[in-house]
Amino acid sequence: MITKKQTFYHKFKVPIAIHNTMLLTITTTHYPATDLGYLLYKNPAKIQSVEISGGKAHIFYPEATEERCTAALLLDIDPVGLVRNNRSPAGENFALEHYVNDRPYVASSFMAVAIAKAFATAMNGTSKDRPQLVDMPLPLEAKLSVVPVRGGEAFLRRLFEPLGYQVTAQGHPLDEQFPEWGTSLYYTVILQGQVRLRDLLSHLYVLIPVMDNDKHYWLGESEIEKLLSKGEGWLRNHPERDSITRRYLKNLGRLTKQAFAILDATEAAAAETEEELSEELPEIVTAKRHSLHQQRLETTLDELKKSGAKKVLDLGCGEGRLLQLLLADSQFEQILGMDVSHRSLEIAQDKLKLDRLPEKQAQRIKLIQGSLLYRDKRLAGFEAAAIVEVIEHLEPDRLAAFERVVFQFARPETVVITTPNVEYNRMFETLTAGTFRHHDHRFEWTRSEFEAWSREVATRHSYTVRFRPVGPEEEAVGAPSQMAIFGRNV
Ligand code: SAH
Repeated sequence: MITKKQTFYHKFKVPIAIHNTMLLTITTTHYPATDLGYLLYKNPAKIQSVEISGGKAHIFYPEATEERCTAALLLDIDPVGLVRNNRSPAGENFALEHYVNDRPYVASSFMAVAIAKAFATAMNGTSKDRPQLVDMPLPLEAKLSVVPVRGGEAFLRRLFEPLGYQVTAQGHPLDEQFPEWGTSLYYTVILQGQVRLRDLLSHLYVLIPVMDNDKHYWLGESEIEKLLSKGEGWLRNHPERDSITRRYLKNLGRLTKQAFAILDATEAAAAETEEELSEELPEIVTAKRHSLHQQRLETTLDELKKSGAKKVLDLGCGEGRLLQLLLADSQFEQILGMDVSHRSLEIAQDKLKLDRLPEKQAQRIKLIQGSLLYRDKRLAGFEAAAIVEVIEHLEPDRLAAFERVVFQFARPETVVITTPNVEYNRMFETLTAGTFRHHDHRFEWTRSEFEAWSREVATRHSYTVRFRPVGPEEEAVGAPSQMAIFGRNV
C-alpha cells in the first residue's frame, strides 16, 4: 500500500545522495581543450558568477589542460527566496510543497535560464577569439548531475539520440533504504557527441525543461520566440517535435497552438514565389526586360535606400530575392529575413550561399523563422521593413494582428508594403474574371481599398503614408502592383 508519506516522497523527494549537486559540466577533448574557455567567454582561471532569478549560477573549471577541459555551471538556488518571490510551484493545495520541493536541487528550468545567461554569446554562435571554432563540431560531453525526466530513460533517449548524442543515463532509487519504493524521477545524464558547442547549449536550453515537464518559471509570449530561435535548425524535423513543443510551452495552451502554427506553416504560401515570378505580363509590356517581380523588388530597394536605413527587415522574405539585392548593397549593414515557411528559408539560405559567404558578409545577414501574426522581439531595433507580396496571404481577420506586430511593436521608421492591384487582373489574359493571381491569396485589393487600409493604419500608429505604382500603368486599371511607403512621425 502506498502511504500518503510515500506519495509525497514520490513527488518531491530528491535522492539524498545527490542533494546539492545541481551541476552541469561540459567537457571537450578537442586540442587544445582550453579553447573551451574562449568559446564560452569564461576564463578557466577564474570563478565567475551570474545572478539569475531565484539565486546565482557559478562558472568554474574543475580541469583545464590542453588535452581535456571541463567547464562547470553550478546553481545555487535559495528555496525560501523562491517562495517569497512567489515562484514556487503553484496550483497544489499542499502548503508544505512551498517549502519542500525539488527545485533547488535539480536541473530544472533554472538551469536552462542559467545556461542562457552564463553562455549567451556562445549560444548565439559568436566568439571573438576563436571564430573558426564556432561552426566546428567538437568532441563534447555534457553531464547533468541530476535531472528529473518525466517519461524515463526511453523518453530521454528519444530526445537526444536523434540529435546525434550517445546517451548514458543512470537512474537513482527513491530511497536506498527502501528499494521497494522503486526508482525516482531523477537521472544522472551524460551526453556525448561530435557537435557544435552552440548546438549543445541550445539543445540543453530547450530540452532540460522539456525533460522536467513541471511548471516552468517563465511565462509569456516571448517563449515562442525563444523556442523557435533556440530550436532553429533541429526542432522542426525532430521526431519528438510535438511533445517537445507541448512540454516546453507547458501551461501555455494558446502559445502551443501558435508555435505549431508556425512550425507547420503551409508550404502552399511558400510556393508563391516561384509561381508568381513567372506571372506573365500582358503582351504590350513583355517587351520590357524586367519581370514584374523584379520591378517590385527594385522599387522596394529604391525606397529602402532613400530611407537611409542601415538595419533592415525583410518580412515574409520567401526565397530571399530581395535579400540578395540588400546584401549586394553596402548601405545595409544589418539584414534580417523572416518567413513562416522553413522550406523557403532553406531555399533562401542556399540561394544566398550563406554557408560560403566570407565571415564579414555573413555577419550582415540573418534568416529566422517566425510569423508576422505574433509579436516578436527579434524584430525590434530596425530602421526599415519591407513586406513584399505578403499581406494578401494573411486571413483578413488577422490583419489587425499583423498591423500591431509591425507598426506597434517592431515600429521601424520606414515600412514598405506591396500587394497586387486587383483592378489590373483583367489585363492578364490567362486569369478568369473573379479569380486571384495565386491560389494562396486570401484577398486582393483595389487601389482604393489598399489606400484606405494603409491610411487607417498610418493614423492609428502615427505614421504618414504615400503610394507608388509598381509596373507599367494602364489608364483605367493602374499598375499591376501597388506599394505603400509609411514613415514614422515620431
Ligand atoms: N517577399 C518575398 C516572398 C513573397 S511570397 C518575395 O517578394 O519574393 C509570400 C511569403 O510570405 C511566403 O514566403 C510565405 O511563406 C510568407 N508568409 C505567409 N504568411 C506569413 C506569416 N504569417 N508570417 C511570415 N511570413 C508569411
